[in-house]
Amino acid sequence: MLSKFIRLLAQFALILLICLFTVAYWTATTGCQSPGAQQRQQTSLHWFTNNGKVKALATTAMVADLVNAIGGDYIDTFTLITGELDPHCYQLVKGDDEKFSYAHLLFYNGLGLEHGPSLMTRLRADAKAVGLGNYILSQEKQAATSGKYSTERKEPKLLFYHGQPDPHIWMDLSLWSEAIPAIAAALGSYDPEHATYYKQRAEQTRDELLAAHKQVQAILAAVPAARRYLITSHDAFNYFTRAYLASEEELASNSWQERFHAPEGLAPDSQISTAQIRLTLDFLKKHSIQTLFSESNVNKDSLRKVIDVASQQGLAISLATKPLYSDSMGTKGTEAATLIGMIQYNAKTIAQHLQ
Ligand SMILES: [Zn+2]
Repeated sequence: MLSKFIRLLAQFALILLICLFTVAYWTATTGCQSPGAQQRQQTSLHWFTNNGKVKALATTAMVADLVNAIGGDYIDTFTLITGELDPHCYQLVKGDDEKFSYAHLLFYNGLGLEHGPSLMTRLRADAKAVGLGNYILSQEKQAATSGKYSTERKEPKLLFYHGQPDPHIWMDLSLWSEAIPAIAAALGSYDPEHATYYKQRAEQTRDELLAAHKQVQAILAAVPAARRYLITSHDAFNYFTRAYLASEEELASNSWQERFHAPEGLAPDSQISTAQIRLTLDFLKKHSIQTLFSESNVNKDSLRKVIDVASQQGLAISLATKPLYSDSMGTKGTEAATLIGMIQYNAKTIAQHLQ
């Protein structure tokens, strides 16, 4: 009887161990935060208080930053995916449904960024959801069909890889500013009393983003062209590279992509194959790169593997002393706590290491 009990206990312990190992492995390999970590979120008590303001729910801090800039005094924004959580794979947790129901308006990045199945399904089903990237895409489609590209713009600004749009549009402040009309229109339509206020702030925000865009271009233009090459963990810097690292000639010949390489794809997965390591080594040898840039919310293992293999080949490659911000912003009180601050911080960090 006792031995049967011990056997049952051992079986139970084994199952528990397998469960724990599976969760740990899933967390490490997917790069996604565990559900336990997801629940450590900011308190939402204030946001749930009825104070007469428009209650906006934003998926990411970057989206919230733009919505706040336009909504100003008349809105209260709650950010769903905060801190180091990965917007590529965020899944809804307990309490999120209440936020979706309570929000008057919902803003998300779109273009496939929020592709965690439960969040994606919720966004698609919600009539009040405004996808900023999707708005820019619809504007581009309209421009293409009306022949505006030939007169007003040279080419579409959104990037596609293997048929998938690159969702990291906030990394180019000029491109990001093109989402502003969608926010101003949604706020003005929900709260027509303050529509003029939103419109004025929209224009002001656009001016601020475009001025910051030029400043960031100037920061990186100071780095000699021969050193303006970037390697980060995942493919979050394509728009950044095109806007801030490429030369006019490279833009014209569409060869600017050669200035950026990332061993992981459009969504970070903390996995790197030997083929990807080889490609990364080829890239860094070709351009005499000595520094790799990690990202604040992405596991550094892939970059460390590249550094290990490079060192076996006698190459001295190191990680930048500070991580860049890509899919998440800095914490409150730091320079990277706003979108403009985050892009300026990235530019200064890159320039400082490459010069
Ligand atoms: Zn990303």
